[in-house]
Amino acid sequence: MLSLVALVVLAGCGSRSAHQEVPAHTNDDSEPVAEKLQAPVILLHGGAGTITHESMQNGLDVQYRNALDSAISLGYAILENGGTALTAVEQTIMFLEDHPLFNAGKGAVLNAEGSVELDASIMDGSNLKAGAVAGVTTVKNPIMLARLVKDSTRHVLLKGRGAESFAAAMHVPLRNPEYFLTPKTRKIREERITKLHKLGTVGCVALDKNHNLAAGTSTGGMDMKKYGRVGDSPIIGAGTYAKNSTCAVSCTGHGEYFIRNVVAYDMSALMEYKGYKVQQAARELIFNKLLSQKALGGLIALDYQGNIAIEYNTPGMFWAFCSASGKKMVGMFAEDQKPENALMASE
Ligand code: ASP
Repeated sequence: MLSLVALVVLAGCGSRSAHQEVPAHTNDDSEPVAEKLQAPVILLHGGAGTITHESMQNGLDVQYRNALDSAISLGYAILENGGTALTAVEQTIMFLEDHPLFNAGKGAVLNAEGSVELDASIMDGSNLKAGAVAGVTTVKNPIMLARLVKDSTRHVLLKGRGAESFAAAMHVPLRNPEYFLTPKTRKIREERITKLHKLGTVGCVALDKNHNLAAGTSTGGMDMKKYGRVGDSPIIGAGTYAKNSTCAVSCTGHGEYFIRNVVAYDMSALMEYKGYKVQQAARELIFNKLLSQKALGGLIALDYQGNIAIEYNTPGMFWAFCSASGKKMVGMFAEDQKPENALMASE
């Protein structure tokens, strides 16, 4: 049995410690929102599910840890160099989309017809602008296309063929559908295995030095999904949400429940209307609302003060974090110490 300490990577995020205390600033209503605002902060997830020591044998856990570590370091470096939360979220998710271990981009799960259909969304907390794509089959990085929908159209969500032709017009990298398969998903297709139980959607939330929040999510959806099914990940308010005065959220899990419960927006609403703290809101949704409906999944969230929540009601969830005080942590198992606790203990 590994020790708790060994299960958590706790190291410096970047080349220098980025601890930064910013004096109280005002929100739109000119109310002081924070006495000690800490930025930048970045948090990602790589999906929630049956992540146990049994399912992570033969060094698979190390492969996941390394991938999560590289992704969060990449995102943090962007923030540390003055990049926006939006760019950090986009680039971190692109790294995970390109990585075959995760259910996004290359390595995505297959639908019931044996093909890959990808969904993604991104949202800017400073102005509520958002972009999303659903059911794309040739776009190498759906999160990049989602950002282009936000930046270069009057729309929020493009789907299927329309999204693909927009991708071609914007000259984003395209790939043959075969590119998205891995040896594992190819075998599943060839042997017509009908149950995979693979979760591994990716998401990221970030707070940049200008105190802007952003959130993004990218996925292949649920394995064996019906052709044309769209989950929560590209639905703003369900799988992704960001608003500077409340929080940035990215969800993972059984998408239909996240849509019905409008989980990502409900996080923000609980904070805005009921004065919940980010962790309190996350627990309310994951353990009270969703679990009472037997809905499995998790979320990551970050508020405008740099407070974070990592909550899931599955056996595990892949996550990684880099804080303003320069701490980096990676976890996946239930017993992994989460940053909220580790940081409180060490600061
Ligand atoms: N939420 C995603 C969906 O339902 C799947 C996941 O997060 O694993 O499409």
